[in-house]
Amino acid sequence: MAEKSFNAFEMAQKQFDKVADMIGLDEGTRELLRNPLREYHFSIPVRMDDGSVKVFRGFRVQHNDARGPAKGGIRFHPQETVDTVRALAMWMTWKTAVADLPLGGGKGGVICDPHNLSPREQEQISRGWVRQVFKNVGPTADVPAPDVMTNAQHMLWMLDEFEALTGGRYPGFITGKPVGMGGSLGRTEATGYGLIFTVREAMKHLNMKIEESVASVQGFGNVAQYAIEKYTQLGGKVICVSSWDQNDQTSYAFRKMAGIDLQELLGITDRFGGIDKDKARELGYEVLPGDQWLDQDVDVLLPCALENQITADNVERISKRVKLIAEGANGPTTPEADAVLEKRGVFVVPDFLANAGGVTCSYFEQVQSNMNFYWPKEEVLERLDDKMTSAFWSVANLADKRKLYMRDAAYIIAIERVAQACKDRGWV
Ligand code: NAD
Repeated sequence: MAEKSFNAFEMAQKQFDKVADMIGLDEGTRELLRNPLREYHFSIPVRMDDGSVKVFRGFRVQHNDARGPAKGGIRFHPQETVDTVRALAMWMTWKTAVADLPLGGGKGGVICDPHNLSPREQEQISRGWVRQVFKNVGPTADVPAPDVMTNAQHMLWMLDEFEALTGGRYPGFITGKPVGMGGSLGRTEATGYGLIFTVREAMKHLNMKIEESVASVQGFGNVAQYAIEKYTQLGGKVICVSSWDQNDQTSYAFRKMAGIDLQELLGITDRFGGIDKDKARELGYEVLPGDQWLDQDVDVLLPCALENQITADNVERISKRVKLIAEGANGPTTPEADAVLEKRGVFVVPDFLANAGGVTCSYFEQVQSNMNFYWPKEEVLERLDDKMTSAFWSVANLADKRKLYMRDAAYIIAIERVAQACKDRGWV
């Protein structure tokens, strides 16, 4: 999404092809799984606040639903492309499979910039999105969720529109809803906390002590904020975070060698996860060019912003001290950079395992919504920890046994589960 030359879908297919070769996947299954089963492209006309009509492009891609209803977020982003959505839908299929959830993979998006849209205009886009696809999504077919620049309010508008069109109450249609309106406690924290549950387990595996470790984080949105909260609760220290500056149209990294203070930074952060650089300076942070989150002398890197961030061009800048990279974002590392990390022996917890906490909790939300009975937060987070821990070890054990790079081991588990479901259903 960030650069013209980068195509996330080609990268997702490349990663898939590598593993399909490794496991000798048959041609038919390979052809089925390297492309989405279904996709919807549509226009969303919106009456803007100034009275004009603007037409936004929307997408929903259902990559695979052999293991259960498709599941995946909806992103609002000015540079959204259908290929990004395709890639993310495919990664959702692997993510639900590696976490062993009875779900498939989907993703949606709208090309728009919420920074420049009023709440009413965003509501119209959300409702318009549902009007275009409500016949093809739903609690038993495809269950959306929030993602970059969408939140619980967008989900509730979408649910309301879906229920108005279908004439019933279907809280299991969408996840990431507000608590008290069908949402699950713990969902807000789930992706960031889940990421750190895998970091905690990876450190056991690597004989590292979290209390003695130092991390640098890219991004300061939902995933990064809760990852930082859990990581520091467990004794780790974060010295650098980065975020996008909407005014300057560039990113900055914020460094404090003694350790950043999450609460203090949250106080100067806007709702899109952008940190105010002037106030940060006043609070004693060094304000550096955004890409310098990657160069820090730390043990752990947590990319939690966007795809295509660790590339062949910058991977060599990663300090020799870095032992562990856990990918909160989807697709932050390109295959070329991956090859370098593998050679260097950096332990990578791949995106679709590391950030599976969000979809795992979304699954819990769906289960609770369908039962119309809601669990206390501790129960949700305990179940989340169990799921993330067992998903981590199923991948780490396979990686150990077959001397595999973690990403390959995670892919093998996921692809074999999905391929098996397709075979069992008689599709291939
Ligand atoms: P968000 O919109 O809440 O936050 C994104 C953060 O990234 C913001 O702080 C923004 O300033 C920062 N950012 C944007 N461009 C940047 C750049 N070039 N350099 C540095 N920082 C930059 O989004 P989020 O929900 O935290 O999601 C982040 C990533 O995690 C995405 O890749 C998303 O797909 C993935 N993810 C999110 C969830 C979830 O539950 N939220 C689940 C799984 C995966």
